[in-house]
Amino acid sequence: MTTATTASVTADASPLATAQGQLTTAVTHLGYDDGMHQMLATPRRETHVAVPLRRDSGETVLFHGFRVQHNVSRGPGKGGLRYHPAVDVDEVRALAMWMTWKCGIVDLPYGGAKGGIDIDPREYSQAELERVTRRYTSEIMPMIGPDTDVMAPDMGTDAQTMAWVMDTYSVNRGYTIPAVVTGKPLAVGGSLGRETATSAGIVHVTAAALKEAEVPLTEVTVAIQGFGKVGGHAASIFADRGARVVAVSDQYGGVRADDGLDVARLQQHVEATGSVQGFDGGDPVSNDELLALDVDVLVPAAVEGVLDESTAGTVRARWVVEGANGPTTAKGDRLLAANGVTVVPDVLANAGGVVVSYFEWVQANQTYWWSEQEIAEKLARRMSSAYADVSALARRDGISLREAALVIGVRRTAEAHEIRGLYP
Ligand code: GLU
Repeated sequence: MTTATTASVTADASPLATAQGQLTTAVTHLGYDDGMHQMLATPRRETHVAVPLRRDSGETVLFHGFRVQHNVSRGPGKGGLRYHPAVDVDEVRALAMWMTWKCGIVDLPYGGAKGGIDIDPREYSQAELERVTRRYTSEIMPMIGPDTDVMAPDMGTDAQTMAWVMDTYSVNRGYTIPAVVTGKPLAVGGSLGRETATSAGIVHVTAAALKEAEVPLTEVTVAIQGFGKVGGHAASIFADRGARVVAVSDQYGGVRADDGLDVARLQQHVEATGSVQGFDGGDPVSNDELLALDVDVLVPAAVEGVLDESTAGTVRARWVVEGANGPTTAKGDRLLAANGVTVVPDVLANAGGVVVSYFEWVQANQTYWWSEQEIAEKLARRMSSAYADVSALARRDGISLREAALVIGVRRTAEAHEIRGLYP
């Protein structure tokens, strides 16, 4: 295990620079000293591992794997596992830090963690992905566990990946330990409602933001960038609740229909072809054009940094609801604010996933399973109350929703540090 060094604030718009800049803003608002700032800025524990894979062809290739526990003061580290060719330790550090604030904002008894491997999962067979997952899991075994660090799916991973992690961990321990991961398949202790939880949470906070402005959800137009686990389900839930989804995109391109897309038919097209591109129920739109559409609500639900100094100024939506982690850079954020766009930040907007992860972990620890309705109601309550806390602080202190959300997440974490005291 390597020792983490304090991440320095770099000038570019990397996720880590964005995350560190946000932390500095929150720490300044809270008036914390430099010692507390450094502690909050520095990951508690990190592991870097080599992940060799014997390909189906017999050839061996090597990937780099990471697991970063940013903070474990409020409970076990919690956060996803990402498979993407651009994964590096700094990105994982940023994502782990965001998990800490996110868990604090929705008041879960967790710290923040994240893992990643620099692999493009689309280029490998299921058997290869299983071997990579099992090798990575056994390399980071000393760090994870139901009481220490609990993984979940993220970009490029899914319920099946979590089943392999759970199985590898359990076989090595000698008995079945479902609570070591969340986002598992239902057959091995997953939770009802986990698959759609992030998207349901996005719609809950959007509805809460619209309600404050006295705008009914049924009267708004929505554009969504990303049609994967988050954006795809969000499109369906928005449409089910009566909003007009007028544009969606994925990494290959996008589709728009000003009268509203038939989301159910679009889902069938995506299942058949693997992309929203070429859907006959609308006209093509590029990813950059989608960001600049004249809609009420824009949901960036794909990768980091898409709303930056070159694109944020083109946004015409009144609300940006961040489905992805870190879709807006610091410069992008300033441009959105200057243009009067209300941003519901990632750490609040996409927290529904980790909320139902928590419900899954609680159910696994109790070996007692809740109904879908119980989960939906508990999720709705927690998201609405987190939104209300953030919005009240933003109004009280005259700050943005992002700053208010971070202040709440950072304050809850720092309070845990202070009350526990410094050892030795
Ligand atoms: N990967 C998701 C996120 O970024 C879920 C994390 C979890 O459920 O632990 O919030």
